[in-house]
Amino acid sequence: MTVIHTQVHKEDNTNKPCYDCKWQTPDPTDPLRGQCTVNRHALGGVWKRWISDVAHSTCSRYEEGELSFRDHV
Ligand code: SF4
Repeated sequence: MTVIHTQVHKEDNTNKPCYDCKWQTPDPTDPLRGQCTVNRHALGGVWKRWISDVAHSTCSRYEEGELSFRDHV
């Protein structure tokens, strides 16, 4: 059985780190930390989650690339 980790979790050797996921917003004061913006409330508001170590965390919703302007609207 395959477990799908939809929530952010630690994974030391991941090739899909939050670090270069398009949903990640870096913390301006600490490059090791960031916030995940993939989650949305029903009304469209962003529900941010803190990531304590962006290089060693991942989840099944990883998407490579930059957040486009449209995604912010
Ligand atoms: S969507 Fe997943 S992989 Fe991407 S930043 Fe959020 S928790 Fe990390």
